[in-house]
Amino acid sequence: MEIVGDTAVMRLDALREALARRARDCGRDPEHITLVAVSKTFDAEAVWPTLRDAGQRVFGENRVQEAMVKWADLRARAADRGQSVELHLIGPLQSNKAREAVETFDVIETVDREKIAAALAEAMAKTGRKPRLFVEINTGAEPQKAGVLPQEADAFLRRCRETHGLAIEGLMCIPPADELASPHFALTAEIARRNGIAGLSMGMSGDWPLAVQLGATHIRVGSAIFGTRPKG
Ligand SMILES: *Cc1c(COP(=O)(O)O)cnc(C)c1O
Repeated sequence: MEIVGDTAVMRLDALREALARRARDCGRDPEHITLVAVSKTFDAEAVWPTLRDAGQRVFGENRVQEAMVKWADLRARAADRGQSVELHLIGPLQSNKAREAVETFDVIETVDREKIAAALAEAMAKTGRKPRLFVEINTGAEPQKAGVLPQEADAFLRRCRETHGLAIEGLMCIPPADELASPHFALTAEIARRNGIAGLSMGMSGDWPLAVQLGATHIRVGSAIFGTRPKG
């Protein structure tokens, strides 16, 4: 997998440059936008060069189990070099995995229902770990997709704070694949604004420049760094 890794380092360097340029073109400070490198499906050997040679520190995974194994290894290797890693969960969370998620991730971007909010609050109390939390908004109201419906977002955010004592730092969205992304990004930004939430995780390989224009603080990019994933 050295080849995947070396190519990933080159792509990552180019992407960082493009991101900085895009941020400046939009009148934004590049320092205010975090690039989350989405390493799902790629093994530790493929990911390691981006940590070792490209200084990437923030990564996204969509499955708790996959991340636990892969990142126990990668975090240990990084720690040997005095480096730390920030790992984001960007895939749906089951309540019976809440404890493992709290122990594995530094940021959980997919808080999307009452049961998960409650399970996370309990797991955080038990473990003493406090991952930062984002709420996922299902901006397209797609039945097959996770996330809080836009019209229920304000009430859900209030319950996260008041009922479960959770500080929500950001919102995350995945626009419908077959629609223009900009209205979905704008809607997510508007929900964040009116709820006093600063973080906005939006934009993937195909649409991150648009997300930067519309206020993203985190972009989640996988295939543009690591290459095409096997369909599964
Ligand atoms: C896979 C994934 C990404 C990255 O997608 P690319 O198109 O490969 O950049 C971003 N966000 C989520 C939630 C994902 O599942």
